[in-house]
Amino acid sequence: MKINTNYQNIADSYLFSTVAKKVSEFASNNPDKKIIKLGIGDVTLPLCKEVVKALKNASEEMGVKESFHGYGPEQGYEFLKSKLQKYYGGHGVKLENDEIFISDGAKSDLGNILDLFAVDNTVLVPDPVYPVYVDTNIMAGRKVVYIDANADNNFLPLPDKSIKADIIYICSPNNPTGAVYNKEQLSAWVDYAKENRSVILFDAAYECFITDKDLPRSIYEIEGAKSCAIEFCSFSKMAGFTGTRCGWTVVPKELENGLLNKMWLRRQTTKFNGVPYIVQRGAEAVFSEVGQKEIQENLNYYKENAKIISDVLKKHNIWHIGGQHSPYIWLKCPNNMKSWEFFDYLLENIQVVGTPGSGFGRNGEGYFRLTSFGSRENTKEAVERMDKLFQ
Ligand code: PLP
Repeated sequence: MKINTNYQNIADSYLFSTVAKKVSEFASNNPDKKIIKLGIGDVTLPLCKEVVKALKNASEEMGVKESFHGYGPEQGYEFLKSKLQKYYGGHGVKLENDEIFISDGAKSDLGNILDLFAVDNTVLVPDPVYPVYVDTNIMAGRKVVYIDANADNNFLPLPDKSIKADIIYICSPNNPTGAVYNKEQLSAWVDYAKENRSVILFDAAYECFITDKDLPRSIYEIEGAKSCAIEFCSFSKMAGFTGTRCGWTVVPKELENGLLNKMWLRRQTTKFNGVPYIVQRGAEAVFSEVGQKEIQENLNYYKENAKIISDVLKKHNIWHIGGQHSPYIWLKCPNNMKSWEFFDYLLENIQVVGTPGSGFGRNGEGYFRLTSFGSRENTKEAVERMDKLFQ
């Protein structure tokens, strides 16, 4: 046998392991100091009551002969797909039922979708970025080119006609920067993709944080996007499903005259056996009236945390974006500190942990990511400490 040597080309990711190592070293040398983690990319609030009720009911059903479910449809149960259709309808997007595929989360499908594309496609990825886009393509042996996201473009790069790319990743609201494209900016990407016959892989994992009605929550709010874009989304951040696992992928039939939709169905029915019935019933409960109210309370909690962080940065004139329509706050390290330098400065002086921006790409150097996924109490305490430190 011959191994896939492309794996040797993946850059080692030291980001989160180095953060963990530095934090544990500091903790063992300073056992009396309370460390506050504002670097977490995972939700911390539990599943809402309505979801738990649905999960329990579905578990009971599984124990009764008449309502037991074995293998389900690989592309998801109708009861959940129809709720998603309605959800999209709520922001003016009409999808056909068989354009929606239920997944076990956005991460898996962001990688799996690459099965549909030839290896000799060039991939365009913004820098800084969620590392999965780059690594999945390197594993397959594809060429990756970068487009700069920086302070000059507010971390929202627009198409550059001199760059030729076949597969384009867009993440909005963005991880790590929290930046969100408006309709005009997304239209520019759709026009570029159509002109070049490229496909956009649109990661909408954080769309639930958008509250401004004028900002697009789905790329299909842009005219023409159905002919050039695949969308990935998730219940992870929307409803705390990071450990429960459920998401969805939209492959419109307008793409390549239905060929990609057919290929994805074939791929899923061949390599995937669907998301558990119980989990899909839990996800369905998110769309009930009570479920919507409960998840909104959790999202508002995170958003309030983000505002608390943003306010202290504003007070001290620290340049930052994000937080408003995202759980992420992306700040420029004060006094031109480098990302890791600022990490050490916060850890040593006030025991607050964030994520160095340089870990997300070249353009992240000198920047830092804080998240609103901590508890209110910890967020407030961290902010009080920052307030004193930045005096
Ligand atoms: N896309 C982005 C941009 C993310 O930040 C994450 C997780 O942090 C994911 C996708 C993965 O989401 P899921 O839990 O649905 O796999």
